[in-house]
Amino acid sequence: MAETLEQFHARSINDREGFWAEQARLIDWNEPFRQVLDYSRPPFARWFVGGTTNLCHNAVDRHLASLGDKPALIYVSTETGAERTWTFAELHREVMRMAAIMQAHGVGRGDRVLIYMPMIAEAVFAILACARIGAIHSVVFGGFASNSLAARIDDATPKMLISADAGSRAGKIIEYKPLIERALGMCAHQPDKVLMVDRHLAAFEPVPGRDLDYATEREAHIDAEIPVTWLESNEVSYTLYTSGTTGKPKGVQRDVGGYAVALAASMAHIFDGRPGETYFATSDIGWVVGHSYIIYGPLIAGMATIVYEGTPVRPDAGILWQLVEKYRVTVMFSAPTAIRVLKKQDSAWLTKYDTSSLRSLFLAGEPLDEPTARWIAEGLGRQVIDNYWQTETGWPILSVAHAIENTPVRHGSPGKVLYGYDVRLLHEQTGEEVGANEKGVITIVPPLPPGCMQTVWGDDARFVSTYFESIPGRMVYSTFDWGLRDEDGYYFILGRTDDVINVAGHRLGTREIEESISSHPAVAECAVVGVADSLKGQVAVAFAVLKDPDAHAQPDRKLALEGEIMAVVDKSLGAVARPARVHLVTALPKTRSGKVLRRSIQALCEDRDPGDLTTIEEPATLDQIRDALGR
Ligand code: AMP
Repeated sequence: MAETLEQFHARSINDREGFWAEQARLIDWNEPFRQVLDYSRPPFARWFVGGTTNLCHNAVDRHLASLGDKPALIYVSTETGAERTWTFAELHREVMRMAAIMQAHGVGRGDRVLIYMPMIAEAVFAILACARIGAIHSVVFGGFASNSLAARIDDATPKMLISADAGSRAGKIIEYKPLIERALGMCAHQPDKVLMVDRHLAAFEPVPGRDLDYATEREAHIDAEIPVTWLESNEVSYTLYTSGTTGKPKGVQRDVGGYAVALAASMAHIFDGRPGETYFATSDIGWVVGHSYIIYGPLIAGMATIVYEGTPVRPDAGILWQLVEKYRVTVMFSAPTAIRVLKKQDSAWLTKYDTSSLRSLFLAGEPLDEPTARWIAEGLGRQVIDNYWQTETGWPILSVAHAIENTPVRHGSPGKVLYGYDVRLLHEQTGEEVGANEKGVITIVPPLPPGCMQTVWGDDARFVSTYFESIPGRMVYSTFDWGLRDEDGYYFILGRTDDVINVAGHRLGTREIEESISSHPAVAECAVVGVADSLKGQVAVAFAVLKDPDAHAQPDRKLALEGEIMAVVDKSLGAVARPARVHLVTALPKTRSGKVLRRSIQALCEDRDPGDLTTIEEPATLDQIRDALGR
């Protein structure tokens, strides 16, 4: 008899090594591993020790014999009108050319390559080329601006930076070169080479001796044959920066073998994607979903993957479904915000195209509200599956795994705990497990399963202190999310326990935005909070105190400053981080020990009770917040 999800899960925890040794057969190994798990230095887990493999081999080369002439990469840009398919054999060639360019310019095993690119095929070539030669890629979301880029360059210290002249979003060209030059102007570290893909969207001046033109370089390496470099399972495949409570983003570091196995297993058990089919994830290569489920996961499973540059509503609200019909997409992955954007449009778009090829639509990255889940599931007549995870874990923690058992989905819940994760809901202070339907912090008892972060890049101590020391007396991994579990084992996510906010599925640290706002010369201090929003889930709202108290009496000056502050955030972090509103106040509500009462500010913004105010230093400061909000 087939195993239930619960039995499958129990086996993954009770016979961890047996379970993962079995999953490890889903990928190719050059040399077999000697040990499934080395957990001699908790909480650091080393998976498949001694085994050698390669992500690019598993994503591309492995399929050449059986799927060589089948589509691997389908590129569609509704921004530029470009549309093109590469077979596995063609993708293989392009990746070898890109790898040859990197090697020719001194990039080798263990060197970092920073990729700051729009959604273009060359970004995929670059990522796979790094994997091929054992270079460590660090992709920075193309919507981030100079300061974000600079912080990541200095942390990753890349030998090469790969970029393009510009990205395009909803018809607006975003020139990358000025952002890169500004970022490099701020950096202590300088890459040796900057490889530029010229899309002819924006003119730029190459820096002689440093900048390389991709088209010219590609021509020079057109016949390149670059074999894969076999890597020990625990070598580093990539770092991906993510926001936390401090202003400094953390480089989430991942391995090679564990990640490949975890993705292959998730494609088999959770996403149920099969070789020769097409996968369509609408995320961006700059986010973890882009790494796991635009690039590596589908390709490892032998599926074609669609790389889409564009929005869900241009040229019209049928574009996603038109692509599903055209490319016979079987598995799709998107974010709740994209669906809420579509919900504002005519629902007739959902039935205009033939989406019968689609088995499931997976949604993740932020809470999926029940009405939105129901609207899309009923409108499309397809199964909609929520799944909960994080940049740190690399693949879903909670969902359903329909290839194991046909667990019914419950709208409003991301589902049940998945294999590999020993999830416990703990009381924040006592560390005790909470009962059914009680709120607790979602934690994972280590060792974390394969595919999860190995450490924080360059900072093992920070990995331990950030993730494993937040619950008193228990060395457990904290997700920093509140959750509860009902009697049937379905989880519900109840928001973050820290100052991280989630705007349209993009994770942002309020501290980073505060630091950016504080860099405006007129600002003395500020507080940024996440406020519920019906479209984006949350938006950032800022309260800033000006150095010059007289400015408050000048409405024109205030208005101008609000605009300037938003522009500062745009310029330093990117428009994704721009607050929806900037309110100017003369003081922030603080405790007597000087801590800003962010929770109370947030509550007022959401028209809720500000909570316990016994520690407040100056109650009148809250009235200012109320006034600013017009309450
Ligand atoms: P990121 O690391 O950017 O993927 O963000 C991860 C965070 O997004 C999680 O810690 C949650 O706060 C939130 N999140 C991700 N998926 C879901 C989901 N399915 N439901 C609710 N929140 C989610």
